[in-house]
Amino acid sequence: MRLDKLIEDNLHTSRKEMKRLFLSGQVTVDGRKETQQNKNVDSRIHKIIVAGKELFTNEVYYLLDKPAGVVTANSDQKHQTVFDCLTLKDQRVDLYAVGRLDRDTSGLLLLTNNGQLGYDLLHPEKKVTKVYEAWINDIVTAKDIAAFQAGIVFLDGTRCQGAHLEILATNKEKGHSFVRLAIQEGKFHQVKKMFLACGKKVITLRRVAMGPLSLAENSQPGDYHLLTKKQLTLLK
Ligand code: URA
Repeated sequence: MRLDKLIEDNLHTSRKEMKRLFLSGQVTVDGRKETQQNKNVDSRIHKIIVAGKELFTNEVYYLLDKPAGVVTANSDQKHQTVFDCLTLKDQRVDLYAVGRLDRDTSGLLLLTNNGQLGYDLLHPEKKVTKVYEAWINDIVTAKDIAAFQAGIVFLDGTRCQGAHLEILATNKEKGHSFVRLAIQEGKFHQVKKMFLACGKKVITLRRVAMGPLSLAENSQPGDYHLLTKKQLTLLK
């Protein structure tokens, strides 16, 4: 949460008063005077003292292993949503998903009420790496790897940045490949469109990592947990 927002919410300060608090050195984070009003803070990690009073953020972060079949939306007439994956006691109206995964995609999805963090993670300039594992309906070749590295051009002409593609396994009988792909963009249906540009189709798609976060090896679709303190520190 932004430090100035936290102060405003707690102390109902005017802009002028806010400026005064910062200028007079009355805002400290972990014992140090803070001058950056837009600093991202979390009271579970930082000790935030303003005008002698300790302030607490009320942020939540869930790491959900999204099952295929549920939609990344706050509500839907036909399908279950990612928020339905949380037990009733964990559901809250202020949660939103950081980025979206297609209905048929599974894997790592962050749910939070910290809008600033979501913005930071999704901003193209931040170049946050997203890692996907996918079964492809064809044999992926060294030529495909080189094309991904050079930058795929979608069928509609949109150019992608270079991406790292690795072949993890091949099912010779079916003529399918299992791959891992790391991208730093978040275009709509990006992974599917990248393979389509090579004349191939994604059969299953699972996001296994995003920035410093990754799914546990034994993670199952539908599992979720609050981020650990260590994971939170990595994220900020
Ligand atoms: N790329 C896709 O095509 N779909 C997703 O859900 C995520 C990335």
